[in-house]
Amino acid sequence: MNAIAEPAWSGLRRLARFGMRRRAAAAPCGVVLMYHRIAEPASDPWDLAVSPRNFADQLAVLARFGPVGTLAGMRAALDRPAPPRRFFALTFDDGYRDNLVAALPALTRAGVRATVFVASGLTGSDREFWWDTLARAMLECPTLPGHLHLRLGGGRHDWRLGPAPGRARRMRLIASVRSELMRLEPAAIEAAISEIAAWAGIERAGAAANHPMDLAEMQALAASGQIEIGGHTHSHAALTLIAPEAAAAEIARGRAALRDRTGQPVTSFAYPYGLHDGHGLAAVRAAGFDCACTVRPGIADAASDPFRIPRIQVKDWPAERFEREIASFAGRADGT
Ligand SMILES: [Zn+2]
Repeated sequence: MNAIAEPAWSGLRRLARFGMRRRAAAAPCGVVLMYHRIAEPASDPWDLAVSPRNFADQLAVLARFGPVGTLAGMRAALDRPAPPRRFFALTFDDGYRDNLVAALPALTRAGVRATVFVASGLTGSDREFWWDTLARAMLECPTLPGHLHLRLGGGRHDWRLGPAPGRARRMRLIASVRSELMRLEPAAIEAAISEIAAWAGIERAGAAANHPMDLAEMQALAASGQIEIGGHTHSHAALTLIAPEAAAAEIARGRAALRDRTGQPVTSFAYPYGLHDGHGLAAVRAAGFDCACTVRPGIADAASDPFRIPRIQVKDWPAERFEREIASFAGRADGT
């Protein structure tokens, strides 16, 4: 997942708040759209899911605005002597099963390629991503115990929910617990999430539809001809919260695993949670990647750092709303 480490924002028109500069008319630029899931989960506190119907409609809208493809395709297109005025790259983070089951058929029907960033160590897990169990525990249980006590990283953490907590209070609890768990080793995260699931009275595994792809599914996605597989570390590590050596190992291990499993080059990377610093950037470059995506909203042009490519988070917008957002954004990209 990515969408929650950067400042909250709710639309492409707000890009100006992040200092996006105006561009000369017709200067070629890349618009990288960030998706996670094509699904309709019961709870989605971070707006990670787009419904299959809205996704198909969004693809139809995009076709009217310019060429659409993978991140590698975008970089190649913008490097041509006569590049398109703008190119849209579609990216999906984490490697959810629905990327194969729901996104790929829609992409194939639309004749569009996309990049899927996969955390190699989570592929084949028989349980949902830990942040989804956290959200399910906090948002889908009508009643919860009044206190949550966890021992994390040698320290004791206590959260008080109080009686009958509303959504806002539950969301604050999610954010607080998540920020603590992100710092931990994968085994410690798993232990804590299992404890939280037991505390809430839910199963850790969750529905199979919400799981990451297994190895065969990831290989089928890679072999489809529609998908570029990109790196997202091995265990979805928060690169700025762990030692630089550990971060470098996460990045390199993830790339090697994906290359071995797909038999394809792995040249694009996305920072988990969008978290990156100079160490992480250097490690991504040293591992052999050509480019890396952040979650900072914006557009890319020839002057952009290829290891700090901004992205636009797409939400579960119907066609009209999506078109308004894209049209507004395309106007900004064109300097109009
Ligand atoms: Zn992610």
